[in-house]
Amino acid sequence: MKILITGATGQLGSATIDFLLKKMPADNLIALVRDESKATELKAKGITLRIGNYDNNASLVAVMKGVEKVLLISGNDIANRQKQHENVINAAKEAGVKHLVYTSFMRKNETKTSPLGMVAKSHIETDKFLINSALVYTIMLNNLYADILPMFFGPQVLEAGIFLPTEDGLAAYATRSDMAEAAANILTGIGHENKKYFIANSENFSMDDAAEILSEIKGEEVEYVSPTNKQYLETLLNAGFPQPIANSLIGFCEAIKQGEFATETTDLETLIGRRPTSLQEYFTVVYKK
Ligand code: NAP
Repeated sequence: MKILITGATGQLGSATIDFLLKKMPADNLIALVRDESKATELKAKGITLRIGNYDNNASLVAVMKGVEKVLLISGNDIANRQKQHENVINAAKEAGVKHLVYTSFMRKNETKTSPLGMVAKSHIETDKFLINSALVYTIMLNNLYADILPMFFGPQVLEAGIFLPTEDGLAAYATRSDMAEAAANILTGIGHENKKYFIANSENFSMDDAAEILSEIKGEEVEYVSPTNKQYLETLLNAGFPQPIANSLIGFCEAIKQGEFATETTDLETLIGRRPTSLQEYFTVVYKK
C-alpha cells in the first residue's frame, strides 16, 4: 500500500511520517514536497519524494499515480487554500486514490459572526467539497495545537506572566505530535472510512490553568492577566506586530474566550489508545530548565 503525505516538509506532516515509519517500511511512503531542498531529512529516511504544488493540478495528478491513500495537510495560504485543497482532492480522484484524510479545523460557529471566519471558511468549504467528492474520506477536526501556546505567550512568559484576552475561556489544546500519531493510525487502521473526528485533548484548559502549571514549574507565581481586546491590540502594535497579525491573534483569543475550542470529545484518546499529552506534561518539556 502506498501512502502519500502532503505538507511533508512541515511540522505535522514530518511528525506523521515518523509515526508511519514505526508501522511500515519507508518504501510504502511518498512525500509530496514543493521544495526539494527542504526534504533532505525525508530523503535520508528513505522516503520517496515527489515534487508538486497545491496550486498546480497537473503536478498533483502525476504525483498521485499508484497511491492508495493521501493525507492532505491543510495549507497555510489562508486566502487561496480553498482552491488549493480542491486541486488536491480533484487530483486524487483523477489519479484513482481510494481514501483521502484531511486535517481540518474544529469550530462551532460557522456563521459570519465567528471571530475566526477567515480561517474557518476554507476548512468548512474543503470539508463539504471532500464529502461530496465521492472519495472515501476521513476529516480530522483539529483543535488548537498546544504547541502554539508558547508563541502566544512570548519568550518572557515565566517572568512577565500571561497577557492574553481570553478571560476564562476553555480549549482542549492537544500536541501536534499526538495529532500526528492519530493521523498515522487513521492511515494504517481500519474503520475510519467516511468519518469525522474531533482531534482534541480529553480535558479543557483555561489560561488560569496554564498560569498555574507554569507557576508550579517555576516554583513562583506566574500571573495571568486578561486585558480587553483594545488594550491587547495596542500592546501588540506598540511591540511592532503588523496590524493583520495582531488582528489574527485577537481573533484566536476571542474564539478561545467564546469557547469555540472547548469540547468533551474523546476521539483523539480513542485513536491513539491513551490519554493525550496534558498541558502539564507539554509545558514541563518546554519550560523545565
Ligand atoms: P507547517 O509546518 O507550516 O507546514 C505546512 C506544510 O504545507 C509545509 O510543508 C508547506 O510546504 C506545505 N504547503 C503549504 N502550501 C503548499 C502548497 N501550495 N503546495 C504544497 N505544499 C504546501 O504547518 P504545520 O504545523 O505542519 O500545520 C499543518 C497545517 O495545520 C497548517 O498548514 C495550517 O493549515 C494548520 N495549522 C493548524 C494549527 C492548529 O493550532 N490547529 C496551527 C497552525 C497551523 P513548505 O515546507 O514548502 O512550506
